Amino acid sequence: MPPIPFQQLEKLLPGVQENVPLKGYTSFKIGGPARYFFDARDEAALVAALKVAEEYKLPVFVLGNGSNILVSDRGFDGLVIHNGNRSIKIDGETVTVGSGMLTMALLLECAKHGLGGMEFMTKIPATVGAAVYGNAGAWGHGFGELCREVRCLQNGKVENLSASEMQFTYRGSVLHTHPGTVLSATLSLQRREPAAIMAEVKEILSKRGRVPHEPSAGCVFRNIELGSTPVEVPRILSALDITKDEYEHTTRFGKLPIGFVLEKFGLRGTKIGGAQISPLHANIIVNAEGRATADDVMQLIALVKTRVRNQLGIQLHEEIQFVGY
Ligand SMILES: Cc1cc2nc3c(=O)[nH]c(=O)nc-3n(C[C@H](O)[C@H](O)[C@H](O)COP(=O)(O)OP(=O)(O)OC[C@H]3O[C@@H](n4cnc5c(N)ncnc54)[C@H](O)[C@@H]3O)c2cc1C
Repeated sequence: MPPIPFQQLEKLLPGVQENVPLKGYTSFKIGGPARYFFDARDEAALVAALKVAEEYKLPVFVLGNGSNILVSDRGFDGLVIHNGNRSIKIDGETVTVGSGMLTMALLLECAKHGLGGMEFMTKIPATVGAAVYGNAGAWGHGFGELCREVRCLQNGKVENLSASEMQFTYRGSVLHTHPGTVLSATLSLQRREPAAIMAEVKEILSKRGRVPHEPSAGCVFRNIELGSTPVEVPRILSALDITKDEYEHTTRFGKLPIGFVLEKFGLRGTKIGGAQISPLHANIIVNAEGRATADDVMQLIALVKTRVRNQLGIQLHEEIQFVGY
């Protein structure tokens, strides 16, 4: 029995829906229904929905563009809030943007105003809120480095957190340990010729060729951070059958890329049910024929983690978030 019946919830959140399939809201095209689903068009609606969930002790999940999640086959037994808060205010080189804005749309809008600095976000299918939450990025950069201040709802209160209070790390932020919902972010960008921004965007688009076209959630596992993970180099060299020079070249950015490891293990193309380790990029699991279940993906994840633990003595951590588990 849900903590609040649908008829009562409808009065508090007009427009809320019941039993909405989440598959269509995820890039994986996998997942069961949300018991309750609410489209929050602006910040006021987002805050109202979060407060109702808190008051009625409804489990809540804030959904951005659904490009970094695996929703269970049973779905989510609570309220999913789909964030459509896309407000934007540009003042000189400072941009304040609603957390539901897509970062690629933001990049293009800022380019029109001659504001650059976020070109590295090209082709990342993130909303601003999730990009802040997970410090999304590429090419050695993270979205957090653009943030001057983040407006969050935490413990029922609106807080303005500075960049240092956000504690951005590789694919992480303080919101992983002190949960909160990003309402908006204030970014500091740099003046740059629109043509120069667009030229860099095009160059990055051509470099990102190895991303598979089938439905996926991007990279499944976090790369192995050498500074914070105990690694036995001789064991890695022997398990991957590589030389010390190859190891040093591969880890030159301080991380052992997990795609490289899985490729060396010959796991590219491995299938369980409808889920497959992409033949193109070994750290991406694809829903190859559109019939994969979340359970298929979970089994493939378990297979990879066991293999890496047994052969390298390293525990992998997922980059994707699990919903409804
Ligand atoms: C083809 C492809 C390529 C990708 N390439 C990259 C890449 O190069 N670099 C990279 O970093 N990622 C990449 N990703 C992963 C993904 O796009 C990012 O992790 C992105 O930040 C997720 O954004 P989203 O809006 O889709 O979040 P969702 O998947 O909807 O949610 C992800 C998490 O963020 C939380 N969240 C969402 N909104 C908020 C909010 N307002 N406040 C607090 N928490 C919130 C959710 O609750 C959830 O836990 C890729 C994904 C795909 C499918």
